[in-house]
Amino acid sequence: MSNRPVIAALLLLTSLQSLAAEVSGFRVWADPAKTRAVLDLDRKTVYKLFTLKNPHRVVIDLQGSTIDIPLDLDADHAGVITGVRYGQPDTNTLRVVFDLSEATEISSFLLEPTAQYGHRLVVDLFSKSQSKKASLVKHVTDIQIPDRDVVIAIDAGHGGEDPGAIGKKRTREKDVVLRIARELKWAIDKQPGMRGVLTRDGDYYIPLRGRYEKARKERADLFVSIHADAFRKSSVRGSSVFVLSAKGASSEFARLLADSENSSDLVGGVTLSDKDDMLASVLLDLSQSATREASNKVAADILNSLKSTGKTHKNHVGHANFMVLKSPDVPSVLVETAFISNPSEEKRLTEKEFQQRMAAAISRGIGNYFYASPPPGTWIANNRNAARHIVARGDTLGGIATRYRVSLTSLRRVNNIDGDVIHVGRELIIPTG
Ligand SMILES: [Zn+2]
Repeated sequence: MSNRPVIAALLLLTSLQSLAAEVSGFRVWADPAKTRAVLDLDRKTVYKLFTLKNPHRVVIDLQGSTIDIPLDLDADHAGVITGVRYGQPDTNTLRVVFDLSEATEISSFLLEPTAQYGHRLVVDLFSKSQSKKASLVKHVTDIQIPDRDVVIAIDAGHGGEDPGAIGKKRTREKDVVLRIARELKWAIDKQPGMRGVLTRDGDYYIPLRGRYEKARKERADLFVSIHADAFRKSSVRGSSVFVLSAKGASSEFARLLADSENSSDLVGGVTLSDKDDMLASVLLDLSQSATREASNKVAADILNSLKSTGKTHKNHVGHANFMVLKSPDVPSVLVETAFISNPSEEKRLTEKEFQQRMAAAISRGIGNYFYASPPPGTWIANNRNAARHIVARGDTLGGIATRYRVSLTSLRRVNNIDGDVIHVGRELIIPTG
C-alpha cells in the first residue's frame, strides 16, 4: 500500500490550517447609543451573522477560523452583551455567540489593518432602549431657559479602539485625558453661570465629527478638546493650545500633529474622505469668522492661564488643521496638556494633582473669557457686575441673604454652597433680582 494518499491529505490539512484566520483578541465597548464588539483576526476572513430570539442572541460563523484565547467579557463595558461563548458546529466553522439582554439593531463590518491593529471584525449592537434614552436627553436640552448657563462641551480625545498616543511606561492618552476632562467639568460646574458637558464619559470611541456635533446639539458656547501630545524627541515638553488654522497647518510641527490626531477616525473605523468637501466649503464661509475670532480669544485666555500654572510649549496659540475643531458655529479649541512622550510629563499626566491643576488652569482661562465677553441671555451676562460681599467675622449666610434681599437658595446656588458654612474672607457673589 502506498503512503501517497496519506501524505497528500496531511499536506492539504496543513495548508488549510495555514489559511485559517485566527481570532487573537476580543474587546467590547459600550457608549450611550450602542455596544461595539471587536474580534481581532490575523487575516481577512469570510463570516455570516444572524440573530436568534428567546433568548436574544447574535451568532457569528467565521469560515475556516480558529481561536485559542478565552473570550472574557468585561461586565462593566459589556452594554447589551450578557455572555459570550464559542464552538465548532462543523470542522470548517468557528461559531461565536453573544447573549443579549434585549433585541438590537445590528451592523457589522470588517476593518483593514491600521497602525495599532490588524484585521478586525466589528459588530455594533444598537439597543432600542438606549436610543430612546438618548432622544429624551436631547429633548430636555432643547428647552431654553432664561438666564441660561454658559455651556462648555468638554471632549476627552480618543477612546475605545483608539488609545491615542502611548508613553514609554504604556500610559495611554485616552485614559489620562478622560480624567482631566472629568476634573475640568467639575471645575467648570463650580463657576457660577457655567456648566460642563462631556462628549464621552467612558472608554469608547466617538467619531471626530460626532464630537462637535454633540457640542452643537447641546448648544455649547465653547468646545474644548483635551489631548496629550507626543513627539519623536522625548525632551520636548509643555502644554499647548490650538485653534483651527484658516489655511491648513501653519508649521511642519503642527502638520505632523494634525496628521496624528486626524488619523484616529481611521482607527475608529470611519473614513472621512466623503466629508472633506463639505468641511472645505464650511471653512470658506465668512460666517465662520465670528466663531474663529472667539476661538482665538478664548485660546489666548487659556494659554495665559496655563502659563501662570506651569511650562507651556510655545509662547503663542498654535494653528492646526484638526478635524475636531471644524465646527462652523461653536468656537473650538484644542489643549495639548503635556507631552506623553516626555518621561517626566508622562508620569505627571497620571497624577491626580497634575490632572486637577491642569483642569483648574483651563477652567480659569475659560471663565476669564466668558466673564469678559458673555453671550447675551446668559446668567453671566446678567450677573457679572453683580454686587460682591466679602465674608466678615460674625456673618451668616442667612444674614447676608436678608441684607441684600435675595433668597438663601439663590445665594447658595450662585456661590456653589451646599450647607451653611462660609469662611471669613471669602468673596460671595450677590445675585441680582
Ligand atoms: Zn490626541
